[in-house]
Amino acid sequence: LIWRQNCRIRAQSSNGTAGDGFVLEDVPHLTDFLPGLLSYPNPLQNSKAYAIVRQTFVTPEDAVAENIVVQKDSPRGVHFRRAGPREKVYFKSEEVRACIVTCGGLCPGINTVIRELVYGLNYMYGVDDILGIEGGYRGFYSKNTVSLTPKLVNDIHKRGGTFLRTSRGGHDTNKIVDNIEDRGINQVYIIGGDGTQKGADLIFKEVEKRGLQVAVAGIPKTIDNDIAVIDKSFGFDTAVEEAQRAINAAHVEVESVENGVGIVKLMGRYSGFIAMYATLASRDVDCCLIPESPFYLEGRGGLFEFVEERLKENGHIVIVLAEGAGQDYVAQELHPIDEKDASGNRLLLDVGLWLSQKIKDHFTNVRKMAINMKYIDPTYMIRAIPSNAADNVYCTLLAQSAVHGAMAGYTGFTVGPVNSRHAYIPIARVTETQNTVKLTDRMWARLLASTNQPSFLNSNEVIPEKADQETMEVVNDMRITSI
Ligand code: ATP
Ligand code: MG
Repeated sequence: LIWRQNCRIRAQSSNGTAGDGFVLEDVPHLTDFLPGLLSYPNPLQNSKAYAIVRQTFVTPEDAVAENIVVQKDSPRGVHFRRAGPREKVYFKSEEVRACIVTCGGLCPGINTVIRELVYGLNYMYGVDDILGIEGGYRGFYSKNTVSLTPKLVNDIHKRGGTFLRTSRGGHDTNKIVDNIEDRGINQVYIIGGDGTQKGADLIFKEVEKRGLQVAVAGIPKTIDNDIAVIDKSFGFDTAVEEAQRAINAAHVEVESVENGVGIVKLMGRYSGFIAMYATLASRDVDCCLIPESPFYLEGRGGLFEFVEERLKENGHIVIVLAEGAGQDYVAQELHPIDEKDASGNRLLLDVGLWLSQKIKDHFTNVRKMAINMKYIDPTYMIRAIPSNAADNVYCTLLAQSAVHGAMAGYTGFTVGPVNSRHAYIPIARVTETQNTVKLTDRMWARLLASTNQPSFLNSNEVIPEKADQETMEVVNDMRITSI
């Protein structure tokens, strides 16, 4: 095997057999650019509670396969370094000065990750110098910090949001690294989404350029579950579970009236995982619309026809849609907004309000049918809750893996499960692409089989007539709006 640091290589097999095709996409280690430094015995070895860990230290050569379903004689494919405690560590516990920062939007579980980073550093490795950088990346140079102790963060996992607060924009790599240097920080834990991880990669590269003894570890956060490579992101399970309450509310509402049409808008800017899983979990959803699957309204096989069918059959219908669904379609009618947020992300048009109005107009004006429209946008309700049991366990593993990795001297890595095994993944690998729902995958087929909704695949798209520009109240909570 050829093991290489910090780059992707197509490796030859250990025994030289052509076709083995083992590839390790490795993460950098501090000794790559600071050679000759000593390794210390892992303090876990002396801990009574962790005596058993002695047998389960991860050997540095262990790797996790990206693909577990392979064909006979096919190349062994891409692997990542397995996460976990190493027998030798790079940092001496009393010399560690760690910091934690949270950036981007809210997601259930951030507080659990913060808590477990602090506990992991302190209980497992005896580190007691841990700084919380407040208010996202700009907190590094606006000098807002808090000293984190297990006692201080003991209860924070029971609350939603982020104990350290967050922000968008304000990433100035040089200023951040200057600050890391000035404060004598040597472990940086960065919790955030795709934008945050891109920022973390720049911080790592600048740290490397300056030859600093600083480990940079990313913990991926995205409620949309759109981070590439890893199995799923924390907060996703909680979001799917909480979305059930909104779907249930919509169902109860539309079941109780004549021709009830319920629309629930869920998160998912570019990928429809939350909408897809919430639909599969719920059984009350008649139709799920996601960004990856373009839909159309009019004509044969269109959404209007389907809504009418279900109203005639059942007297009501529930539609779940992801916020990024049908954006191109909506933009044909509404003025495309070219606005961006502070981090440079494009602001989306409100497809939920648009669709509610279109359905209402169609049935009232064209089909002359009275319908009862109920539109629910539970986005902020979902983002703000604490994580559920499964996510709490998952966040604990993520945080502990990150601590083990940084203590071992790995840097420039993101941590996450790949085929259920936690691994260290080069940061750039998780930011170069986004995970999206593959319409040709089995899961989408399962959803279509479960809802029996149109696939919107075989008809020509009908461009709708110019919509009226009636403004509608934006409802960003669980209140139900009758339109
Ligand atoms: P989410 O989209 O899930 O809310 P995110 O991490 O993608 O999370 P952003 O607001 O895009 O959220 O970014 C968070 C932080 O990362 C901001 O401070 C932003 O300045 C910084 N950032 C975003 N994109 C980049 C980039 N390409 N390079 C450097 N920093 C970036
Ligand atoms: Mg993002």
